[in-house]
Amino acid sequence: MTETNEPNNEQHLDFIRQIVADDIESGVNDGRVHTRFPPEPNGYLHIGHAKSICLNFGIAAEFGGQCNLRFDDTNPCKEEQEYVDSIIEDIQWLGGQWNGEPLFASDYFQQMYDWAVELIKKNRAFVCDLTADQTRAYRGTLKEQGKKSPYRNRGVDENLDLFERMKKGEFPDGTKTLKAKIDMASPNINLRDPVMYRILHATHHRTDDDWCVYPMYDWAHGLEDSIEGITHSICTLEFENHRPLYDWFLDALEIHHPRQYEFARLNLTYTMMSKRKLLQLVNNRLVSGWDDPRLPTLSGLRRRGFSPKSIRDFCATIGVNKFNSTVDYALLEHCLRKDLNATSPRVMAVLNPLKIIITNFPDGQADELDAVNNPEDESAGTRIVPFSKMLYIERDDFMEDPPRKFFRLAPGREVRLRYAYFITCNEVVKDDNGEVVELRCTYDPATRGGDAPDGRRVKATLHWVSAEHALDAEIRLYDHLFTKENPDDVEDGQDFTANINQDSLKVLGGCKIEPSVKNAESLRRFQFERLGYFCTDADSTPEKLIFNKTVGLRDTWAKIQKQQQNQQKQKQQKKK
Ligand code: ATP
Ligand code: MG
Repeated sequence: MTETNEPNNEQHLDFIRQIVADDIESGVNDGRVHTRFPPEPNGYLHIGHAKSICLNFGIAAEFGGQCNLRFDDTNPCKEEQEYVDSIIEDIQWLGGQWNGEPLFASDYFQQMYDWAVELIKKNRAFVCDLTADQTRAYRGTLKEQGKKSPYRNRGVDENLDLFERMKKGEFPDGTKTLKAKIDMASPNINLRDPVMYRILHATHHRTDDDWCVYPMYDWAHGLEDSIEGITHSICTLEFENHRPLYDWFLDALEIHHPRQYEFARLNLTYTMMSKRKLLQLVNNRLVSGWDDPRLPTLSGLRRRGFSPKSIRDFCATIGVNKFNSTVDYALLEHCLRKDLNATSPRVMAVLNPLKIIITNFPDGQADELDAVNNPEDESAGTRIVPFSKMLYIERDDFMEDPPRKFFRLAPGREVRLRYAYFITCNEVVKDDNGEVVELRCTYDPATRGGDAPDGRRVKATLHWVSAEHALDAEIRLYDHLFTKENPDDVEDGQDFTANINQDSLKVLGGCKIEPSVKNAESLRRFQFERLGYFCTDADSTPEKLIFNKTVGLRDTWAKIQKQQQNQQKQKQQKKK
């Protein structure tokens, strides 16, 4: 990837990078490294894909190799151009740089077909008339051997003729398949005469109606890798049992033979990544679209305010291994905060405004105060924040009758307004219902900038905006989309949607924000002082500002880690 153009420290190579390093050292494939990222264009990419993108593009960049972007578009029924476009956009955003143009498996359909014919001629593939149900029954189970298809011994010429007619569309869907002739007694069910082609009279998003047969994943994938000269074909763990078949096809054809390696897929708490389920959420309008800021899709995370770097850092932090596990969402947020803290300009915004009148401030006047843009980055400079007679502070920052530990504003108390002055609350104005609607305060002009010349102290610093200068904004607050760590943890008869968090989106109107953000472009990230990280939504305009809350300021990851360590200690002590 763009920013990690160096191999990791030798000792910290994950097991796949170690294999690649060893292969280069021993001259496998003449020391060439060529990976690929092969999404099926049947949905938008999610954070799990980011793990695979960082791995495949990362290895290519670190070892001086190349990585292809290849659309695995062998299933005409679920694939669409919209998905192709979104995938390209998301990979570019994340910083993946592919070799040449994006590639499409559908461009290899003729070559795949020719190779299938070759296997028929070698008597290693046959046309089978068993239905899908029969095929399943003949396949057997883990405990029981499979049964040979009655069509297994068809002659080569008959197979060639039938396969060609399948391709031309002479037979209805589901009436015939092309199968590899391997071993119905194999303990690995994937090797029990697997289907290579099925008949589908379907229109493909790129090849249109050219084909009436479509290749199955296991047959197609190795061929795609081979055609492109891939050296290391990296996939997720559930394909481990398919590797013998991957190898069988390539050996049978005697063509370039990439090696397949499997790693554990990413799972995250409080969310899920199955494209089928994401599609269900989108289609049933349980979210606003694929880029809903509550989704783990890359477009959703982007809209939420995630930076590409935070996602790359997260992927580097979780590493790559061979054991399935679930990563705590708090770790993702930890990586996010770390990057946003370093890069986000600070501004002041008030989500739930309470009016303040500075009684001793001249009418119609405005003071211009200097505010630091980012204390973590001196080069970000300063900006001017206007101060005037009428201000807003956060309603939560005032209590009429405060408990002992509440140090913010209260009647008779003095606090600091950030970058401005000390103010003292002298009077509380209420409406007929007894609700506080205004505070009347005085300011001390000598405390300009935030310090008192006589050295007196205050216990709180509040954020604020000038009423006359502030912009109105809508602010959207988010919580996890699911109430359970594992959304699939449901009662019998329910599905994961039963665990949807009904309070995952809260829209606040009438928020007030300082004028410096006026022309903020779409997806611009900020820290709202004391509140968290926010970014302008894709729908935000200078006339109607809309912000998404990306994440709060408080990091829960350290706490969670400690809890987990304690739990482990307790477990170990119990064992003893
Ligand atoms: P789904 O099962 O949700 O449809 P998929 O694995 O079929 O997802 P693909 O488009 O085929 O999705 O995935 C492209 C690549 O991304 C594959 O190499 C796949 O292994 C990898 N990938 C998908 N999901 C994850 C995940 N959660 N963690 C890591 N890698 C993943
Ligand atoms: Mg897939």
